[in-house]
Amino acid sequence: MYKTLMHDDYQKTLVNTLKFEGIGLHTGEKTIVEIKPADANEGIIFKRVDLKKNNIVVANYKNVTSAKLCTTLENKHGVKVSTVEHLLAALYIAGIDNALIEVNSEEVPIMDGSAKVFLEKLYKSEIKKLSKKRKYLRVNNKIELVDGDRRISLEPNNSLEVNFQLNYQNRIIGNQKNKVNFEIDNLHDVSNSRTFCLYKDIEKIKKAGLAKGGSLDNAVVVDENSVLNDGGLRNDKEFVNHKILDLIGDFLLSGYRILGKVTCYQGGHELTNLFLRKLFNYKSSLQVFESKNIIVSKEISHKQSSKIAVNA
Ligand SMILES: [Zn+2]
Repeated sequence: MYKTLMHDDYQKTLVNTLKFEGIGLHTGEKTIVEIKPADANEGIIFKRVDLKKNNIVVANYKNVTSAKLCTTLENKHGVKVSTVEHLLAALYIAGIDNALIEVNSEEVPIMDGSAKVFLEKLYKSEIKKLSKKRKYLRVNNKIELVDGDRRISLEPNNSLEVNFQLNYQNRIIGNQKNKVNFEIDNLHDVSNSRTFCLYKDIEKIKKAGLAKGGSLDNAVVVDENSVLNDGGLRNDKEFVNHKILDLIGDFLLSGYRILGKVTCYQGGHELTNLFLRKLFNYKSSLQVFESKNIIVSKEISHKQSSKIAVNA
């Protein structure tokens, strides 16, 4: 339990539909999401079942049109699905490569603010091995994106390892760092770590029309000196562990299982998305593997989207 199923080279999907009910963090609306089986090479696809047409939104980094506080995907008809990252991270950790995700509103429910609820059900459900192999992606050399104070890089490595560091003025969050290898480490703490915010920012966030569904039930809230949630933190490094969870959810939007050593300082959804866009511009530095030892293609045919991802 709490390990990724990355050691297996074959793609996976679910056998049965999994259903979750909760509220949208930003919309505050009650939402139902159903995760359904899909064929090999279909990837992760969202379907807005509250809409009759143009309701398919593909989980791909090129379809990210907003990365402010959460990751929002949007199709060419302007149909959106937001706050996808914790569910995607759960699918990544559970080893699911292909799924149709039906959602009846614009936002995936926040549940408890982590991947815990999604993963508990995924771990109990039957998972099917498909006949096609996974596509791993590895870099030949270090690729880095620096944006002011923030930076993220990916270096050659045979497994996915994420080194993350936060640096907040707040003394409770402070300068927290952690290193997680998704092939060998126990992922319990990363999976259970909740999204967080500063108490003093809540009013600002709500004025911007965001976090209408936010509460102490689905986010860690900190003031100058303490964690306001009953029971405090779930683990010592919950803040940075949540950022690592966000990062791997966003990495699944690459369409590959990325292998490499990630080093990230002060990053977030926006920086991760900018990084993926940069990564696929360095096609000659990328290798695609169908199993960890066999190179099937050095070329990747990704057309860059014309749409700019970021508004944060
Ligand atoms: Zn998050």
